[in-house]
Amino acid sequence: MPVLTRLIPSPVVVDIRAGALDDLAGILADQRISSSGRLAFAISGGSGQKLREKVAPALTGADWYEVCDGTIDSAVKLADDMKGNRYDAVVGLGGGKIIDVAKYAAARVGLPLVAVATNLAHDGLCSPISILDNDNGRGSYGVPSPIAMVIDLDVVREAPVRFVRSGIGDAISNISAIADWELSHRIKGENVDGLAAAMARTAGESVLRHPGGVGDDEFLTVLAEALVLSGIAMSISGDSRPSSGACHEISHAFDLLYPKRAASHGEQCGLGAAFAMHLRGAHEQAGLFAEVLRRHGLPVTPDEIGFSPDEFVRAVEYAPQTRPGRFTILEHLDLTHDQIRDAYADYAKTISS
Ligand SMILES: [Zn+2]
Repeated sequence: MPVLTRLIPSPVVVDIRAGALDDLAGILADQRISSSGRLAFAISGGSGQKLREKVAPALTGADWYEVCDGTIDSAVKLADDMKGNRYDAVVGLGGGKIIDVAKYAAARVGLPLVAVATNLAHDGLCSPISILDNDNGRGSYGVPSPIAMVIDLDVVREAPVRFVRSGIGDAISNISAIADWELSHRIKGENVDGLAAAMARTAGESVLRHPGGVGDDEFLTVLAEALVLSGIAMSISGDSRPSSGACHEISHAFDLLYPKRAASHGEQCGLGAAFAMHLRGAHEQAGLFAEVLRRHGLPVTPDEIGFSPDEFVRAVEYAPQTRPGRFTILEHLDLTHDQIRDAYADYAKTISS
């Protein structure tokens, strides 16, 4: 019998709203998540303590684990510390680093992961990927996607605005990543998962076209939902393809070439995406990207994050090496240093007019 449908790996609970954290105990009491109330919370030493004070009184069956950094060592230590205790689930309560550490540790001890995100910096919140620092720099580890996803907009608004800006750049870059995926399909015959592409593209477009700004709840809701949908799109495709193309290769190149000076993930991805759209000849789209990024206070040229045009050109030149095997507009055009320099000059002229 043919398979008539497919099951999508996705959270059983997605709760995005102002005040969601006040109801965390109720959400976690969901029988599908925790029947005994025994939960292991992973939090940071700093801002995590304040959140703990807020939610701990209603969660008497919880144990609390402090995570000091986003390394694989911390993730392994968390898993080791939890061993021997019976829990229904692990709860990652914090920013991307805490959630990534909790994701990896939960996978290691075979428990489901509840992600409670305190900022909207990137689309890794709900993805099946844990990004951790290791001895070789940084690694991406495949993990199950979260069983529940909670985002309290009141908490998100308290985080520095640059976190929200970063999430905007990451969400918008989906559109460029999908264009790369479709290019690879045309040139290389790579399979495109239509459902993953639909979700990731819709997520990107909803942020790109939303008239609101970082200060209003309606916009923050759309942004949070876009980041969650991007993560589920990655679960569907089984890799980061729906949300990561030339835009992300350029961002990774910034991280690797200029580790001390790199800007935020979303700032670099947004800039990379605008430039990638220009490279593929979609000048009108590149102009729209630049206009929206500017409106939200994101950079559209490298000097706005402290890099010279030449440093940017070097990052673009190096970018394909950051993701061997991934085919994007950069691998397709295979530009020389001088050609990238000319393309950048053309881009800078186009978006300033
Ligand atoms: Zn990203």
